[in-house]
Amino acid sequence: MIRAAILMAADSALVQRAVRRYGMQMGAKRFVAGETASDFLDAASAVNTRGFAVACGILGEGVRSREEATEAAEEYCALLRTFAERGIDANVAFKLTHVGLDIDPELAYENAARIAQTAQDTGNTMRLDMEQSRYVDATLQIHRRLRERFGCVGFVLQSYLHRSMDDLQNALPLQPNVRLVKGAYLEPPTVAFPSKADVDANYIRLAETALTHPGYTAIATHDPKIIAHLRDFIDRAGLPKRGRFEFQMLYGIGSPLAQQLVESGYRVRLAIPFGNYWFPYLMRRLAERPANLAFFLKGAFTRG
Ligand SMILES: Cc1cc2nc3c(=O)[nH]c(=O)nc-3n(C[C@H](O)[C@H](O)[C@H](O)COP(=O)(O)OP(=O)(O)OC[C@H]3O[C@@H](n4cnc5c(N)ncnc54)[C@H](O)[C@@H]3O)c2cc1C
Repeated sequence: MIRAAILMAADSALVQRAVRRYGMQMGAKRFVAGETASDFLDAASAVNTRGFAVACGILGEGVRSREEATEAAEEYCALLRTFAERGIDANVAFKLTHVGLDIDPELAYENAARIAQTAQDTGNTMRLDMEQSRYVDATLQIHRRLRERFGCVGFVLQSYLHRSMDDLQNALPLQPNVRLVKGAYLEPPTVAFPSKADVDANYIRLAETALTHPGYTAIATHDPKIIAHLRDFIDRAGLPKRGRFEFQMLYGIGSPLAQQLVESGYRVRLAIPFGNYWFPYLMRRLAERPANLAFFLKGAFTRG
């Protein structure tokens, strides 16, 4: 219930104004590198030195003009070139609505293809994030078209959706690079499992299926039980610690466990977002764990 209330409050103009004004000082910085590319590059270099790879995300979604969508794609291409020039171990992951999906799916495809081309030219990879369920079909179609042209393109499946196992089965012939997540949006029971136990069980089914087929699996969760289960599964399946899968976590969450995984020899990637459109991202992180709301509100009273 608290999760739903936070996600609904995210749509309130009043809440948006207040949080956008004070949020960065109040504690958004725990989850977001900052507002500029330079803030991101500092954060990425720092986590690289601690042994983590990085997934870069520019915070923006649902852009309304062709120019904004194309600018976002150009910014991703520029970042990929900077990673290559500076030897930063980071790839990019972005939302198709940030590069034009709400305006024209063909525009989103063209922009995503430009990013894929730059990723390929710089020896890197890119991934399409997964958004609300109404975008899944379009995202999967664009992923398929890109994947047929570029080997460096990955996508995301959400274990809260009833459809995800079918979507994974359909993607298996592409030897996909799939990131598995539980899902961050408010979805009705007609499309998503309402119970956490079902979401978790489906996560494990999806991960075991992906890991036992050719391709690459990004196990993106902070859930210690699921991680322990999959480590055991991976050992029993005789998969090497690197090359077939990686663990992924969000910047500011699950750090001790992430560090432990790096020290055990696994590849671990932290998703680090930046940009001035951080409000919806922050609200999704608060909704996942209402205890974060207390941390965040405390910041309001301890600001200097
Ligand atoms: C790298 C990465 C990429 C993602 N990309 C997408 C995407 O494209 N589309 C999408 O819908 N979702 C995405 N997500 C978000 C995901 O769907 C979940 O909402 C989020 O990861 C929380 O779920 P969990 O798997 O950690 O499990 P949960 O069961 O929610 O949490 C397990 C444990 O992790 C810790 N934890 C989880 N969330 C938080 C938090 N916010 N603050 C503090 N501790 C926390 C807690 O200890 C909790 O008990 C992504 C997540 C990751 C890690």
